[in-house]
Amino acid sequence: MRRAVFLDRDGVINRALVRDGRPYPPAALDELEILPDAPAALADLKRLGYLLVVVTNQPDVGRGVQTREAVEAMHAELKRALPLDDVLVCYHTDSDRCDCRKPLPGLIFRAAERYGIDVRASYLIGDRWRDIEAGESAGCMTILIDRGYAERGPSAGPMHRVSSLRAAADWIGEPALNRLRVKLFADGADLNAIRSLAANPLIRGFTTNPTLMRKAGVTDYEAFARDALAAIADRPVSFEVFADEFVEMERQARKIAAWGDQVYVKIPITNSRAESSLDLVHRLSHSGVKVNVTALMAPDQILDAAAALAGGASAFLSVFAGRVSDTGRDPLPLMAAAVELLRPHPQMQLIWASPRELLNVFHADSVGCHVITATSDLLNKLSLVAKDLHGYSLETVRMFHDDASKANYLL
Ligand SMILES: [Zn+2]
Repeated sequence: MRRAVFLDRDGVINRALVRDGRPYPPAALDELEILPDAPAALADLKRLGYLLVVVTNQPDVGRGVQTREAVEAMHAELKRALPLDDVLVCYHTDSDRCDCRKPLPGLIFRAAERYGIDVRASYLIGDRWRDIEAGESAGCMTILIDRGYAERGPSAGPMHRVSSLRAAADWIGEPALNRLRVKLFADGADLNAIRSLAANPLIRGFTTNPTLMRKAGVTDYEAFARDALAAIADRPVSFEVFADEFVEMERQARKIAAWGDQVYVKIPITNSRAESSLDLVHRLSHSGVKVNVTALMAPDQILDAAAALAGGASAFLSVFAGRVSDTGRDPLPLMAAAVELLRPHPQMQLIWASPRELLNVFHADSVGCHVITATSDLLNKLSLVAKDLHGYSLETVRMFHDDASKANYLL
């Protein structure tokens, strides 16, 4: 699924003619003036990977005061001068009762269908209430370029308000936690940390593994798990089996699954003798156990795990993207392909496991990965998202100065 920026036309990419405080479209090509900030702002959005789709009401055609040919000539010029992917037009008036005149979201849905756009991960930029309300009802994130027209504002939204297309494009390019689609899971086995993270609504689930549990000094597996589940009653939690024989693995899996509805059982893709776990995964998943297939790295492993889980209970596939990147391979194409592979199976969710840096949260989000698990080291860095770089630079300089002073270095 692709992401788009839906753009209104008049007052957003070309100058609207304002009379008595209200905006009007240019009447003909010679009145069309592309706003000076539009080419660079749209080029930046294009570089960020967005499809650029104009959605515009041109009711003067329906009213008979403007010809369709004149409008089409202007659109040909806009497409020539700007990196637009498409221009969708409603030529109707209110009395036509069409489904495409903004504030109705018909044009947005038509574009979404045509290009496979995920509207919830897309933006709409407009300068009038009709634009913003269309974007809101389609489920987009909306940005109003507030030009102070003498008319009412939107009754829903906007998510953000700016004074220019440039500012709207800059805002879209800024990283922001409240616009992430990927769900953050906390990976760990420290009960105090789990309790405090359970109070954080940003953390949408939890994962753990025997290595983390051992590091955290856990000695009684079930006691730890039950304490953790008591702290997190409302979100998914994954616990891992640790047996190496499939019969024993299955016994552990069924026992773990019985601890609660939100429990997922992590089954490694093979045992320690490289024997495939897929028969077990299939049997568990099709008997209602929520499985989290883990330690996935190679593309064929992801494919096989998805096939074993197809038609079964709700499941996670944990792909160790960070470990893949440790081998010098870019995990992004692998994860993007996995998202596509899982698209026909809404009960399966892809987990970006073992992230190596905070940026991976945004990588995962950009390819539509459902979940990213992060240890507390990484979660602590969330407060740095979109931090001012000059301020951050100054903090760094002060840290060097401070440490050198404390060390009493002399030269
Ligand atoms: Zn229409």
